Amino acid sequence: MALITISGYPSSGKSRRAIQLKNHLERRLRDPSYTGPKLKVQILSDDDLNIDRNVYSDSRSEKPARAALFTAMQRQMSQDTILIVDSLNYIKGFRYQMYCAARELKLRVCTIFVVATQELAREWNKTRQDGKAYPSEAFENLLLRYEEPSSMVRWDSPLFTVPWLDKDVPADDIWKAITEGIIKPPNAG
Ligand code: ADP
Repeated sequence: MALITISGYPSSGKSRRAIQLKNHLERRLRDPSYTGPKLKVQILSDDDLNIDRNVYSDSRSEKPARAALFTAMQRQMSQDTILIVDSLNYIKGFRYQMYCAARELKLRVCTIFVVATQELAREWNKTRQDGKAYPSEAFENLLLRYEEPSSMVRWDSPLFTVPWLDKDVPADDIWKAITEGIIKPPNAG
């Protein structure tokens, strides 16, 4: 039904935001005032595909990882799913491909740009305790290669930017972006 693409620096808080958003969307879908079709919310991440952070150390090993993510995404996209793709998604051309695949299935799309300063992301990468830190060379390289999403291009739009200081994601606006015109809001005639 929808594809939500998360993008941001390595260790900038993408997974954290993906989980926040999933919880919000599930709460809405469970709410008694929700009368739309039955939908499930799924997160697809590098971890689900056992993609090691080491693959980002060079572009040769990164390519097959990206292809695996794209294949899994295509498999999981459907009319009854809100799919959140929680990965770096840092290449403009890759986000364009994802957008095209989603639009082919007539899914709604939006992009969440998770923002942290380079200094903070670096610090969080160094101190993370979950064994998912990026090797420092790969980390620095990804910062240099990162291609910021832009609301000026259709494949990144609508774009929601979530700065690190924000407690939460703009879940109401995101919900609206993916459901407006398809799912009747509560108490609307
Ligand atoms: P990513 O998915 O971008 O790699 P994660 O969500 O896994 O990032 O977070 C990476 C690390 O940074 C985790 O240890 C997390 O606790 C920490 N972190 C993420 N966002 C924040 C934040 N806004 N404030 C403080 N720590 C954060």
